[in-house]
Amino acid sequence: MSLVVIGSVAFDALETPFGKTDKIIGGAATYISLSASYSLKPVKLVAVVGDDFPQADILLLQEHGVDTEGLQIKEGEKSFFWSGKYSTDLNSRETLTTELNVLADFDPIIPDSYQDCKYLMLGNLAPAVQRLVIQRLVNRPKLIVMDTMNFWMDVALEDLMATIEMVDVLSINDEEARQLSGEYSLVKAAKKIMGFGPKFLIIKKGEHGALLFHKNKIFFAPALPLEEVFDPTGAGDTFAGGFIGYLAATDDISFDNMKRAVIHGSAMASFCVEKFGTERLLNLTKEQLEAREKQFADLVEVIPATSAQPA
Ligand code: AMP
Repeated sequence: MSLVVIGSVAFDALETPFGKTDKIIGGAATYISLSASYSLKPVKLVAVVGDDFPQADILLLQEHGVDTEGLQIKEGEKSFFWSGKYSTDLNSRETLTTELNVLADFDPIIPDSYQDCKYLMLGNLAPAVQRLVIQRLVNRPKLIVMDTMNFWMDVALEDLMATIEMVDVLSINDEEARQLSGEYSLVKAAKKIMGFGPKFLIIKKGEHGALLFHKNKIFFAPALPLEEVFDPTGAGDTFAGGFIGYLAATDDISFDNMKRAVIHGSAMASFCVEKFGTERLLNLTKEQLEAREKQFADLVEVIPATSAQPA
């Protein structure tokens, strides 16, 4: 089923307690596309970069089944640049630099070959641009998933609310859910946010997993307790890419299938954090993926105390 992904394609500079990187390839749409490509190909990308973006990295995306017809390359302009620094426990990070560059006046072009889009992933980007993509698709996709961040709540709340109203699934982290709703309880926050439009809400809680809300139902997926977490950058996007990739590949948007998609997304994210940047997402095997998903299933499988037969 046709999947279109929009979001930033960027240079990132990262600093974690384990080391520092110079400019490496990053961006929400990069992580989303690579992650989704393990479920289905092609992943149709809509994004913009400057002419400083290496051709080799565009080729790398193409080798992973990413269709780059919708990737604009702006002559004489610079790509989006973001840098961040993580605290010692890797749970919080500080944005050091956000240079919008080509993103400042991004006018997304949807190639005709993308008009068959049935699944749309709106990765982190100005909410007005995310909305333009919905408006420029001739037919409304079967499922629209949106990811965003506190940055847009601070600088473009009105636009953000207008876009949120149009999507089916919103994916944000716990801090952002509290900021957006003004509620501390995540259950209350979820009810309020679903009242803004989305029928489903995913609240990501980093190393504490993710919650999926729909009407009065809640599903919880743990994060895999890992021995080595190297760099959490892109984990949320990788999760989102795995989530929508799985739904698009199975073409089933029932709540039960969304639960599987949440586990699949969590498994993809668990790989992402094991190395710097996108490195770990480049060469995963089917066997590694299956083994990781099984680890997730084992992690939560239990016969409830009231049903168990004592030994
Ligand atoms: P995550 O760690 O999943 O929140 O995503 C990290 C990615 O988001 C990085 O690769 C950045 O390039 C990208 N990013 C950071 N800030 C923004 C922003 N304001 N708009 C779009 N993408 C961003």
